[in-house]
Amino acid sequence: MTRTVVVTGSTSGIGLGIAKAFAAEGANLVINGFGPADEIEANRKALEAHGGKAIYHGADMTKPEEIADLIATAEKTFGGVDVLVNNAGIQHVSPVEDFPIDKWDQIIAINLTSSFHTIRATVPGMKASKKGRIINVASAHALVASPYKSAYVAAKHGIMGLTKSVALELAEFGITINAICPGYVLTPLVEKQIPDTAKARGISEEQVKTDVMLRLQATKEFVAIEEVAATAIFLASDAAKQITGTSISIDGGWTAQ
Ligand code: NAD
Repeated sequence: MTRTVVVTGSTSGIGLGIAKAFAAEGANLVINGFGPADEIEANRKALEAHGGKAIYHGADMTKPEEIADLIATAEKTFGGVDVLVNNAGIQHVSPVEDFPIDKWDQIIAINLTSSFHTIRATVPGMKASKKGRIINVASAHALVASPYKSAYVAAKHGIMGLTKSVALELAEFGITINAICPGYVLTPLVEKQIPDTAKARGISEEQVKTDVMLRLQATKEFVAIEEVAATAIFLASDAAKQITGTSISIDGGWTAQ
């Protein structure tokens, strides 16, 4: 049976990688996120190469009514949602006393609250069909902290709490919910924070990569998008049906120390 997969923030980086991995299995996809219309359309078409259908919904993850419409559209188009991947996220790097209030609010809305809204809208359909998979793309920062990322670390720790709580509620309905916790992956989100981190710490951009980002990543390598996507595919498989309310780290050993 063809599964339907909704991936928030899937016009770029990890989300797009996860959408591609599910598409390769023939799934129907609902992609979401911002970016140039022609690029999004090219990605959408490419996702249909393996036989599934793909639609794009431009819901802004700071707007609850648009998020509700994203899930309603997925259900209307494909008859239900089998896998929900909460992936949309942004970052801002700044000392806490200078942290712009609007950036704090935006990060909490996109990186944490949007997942409450997608889950809230998706669960009734999943409960009715007695199956479902919810995968939250969290971060190593859901488990440990770094300085100058107060909003991001707070939101990602929050998503871990949401994951555990909802797992207990849904455990007897054939629905699992888990968090994937990647270390540093070289995506636009990470590229963008290199200059700000260099400024905040008074070091060069190259030093940000080697001395900050890969300092605790014991393998000294960035995580590949495909490695995160493969973990999402596993969590959505039958083999993972007893895995719920937990996190899987893909961080090159970062959180082992
Ligand atoms: P990215 O910048 O490449 O992609 C982010 C996606 O979210 C894009 O599609 C963007 O359009 C979308 N988005 C942003 N604001 C949105 C909004 N208001 N509404 C809808 N969509 C919105 O970033 P990425 O690195 O691929 O990050 C994806 C997720 O992975 C995030 O939750 C991030 O915190 C997490 N993560 C990333 C890393 C990393 O090192 N890159 C590590 C751990 C966790």
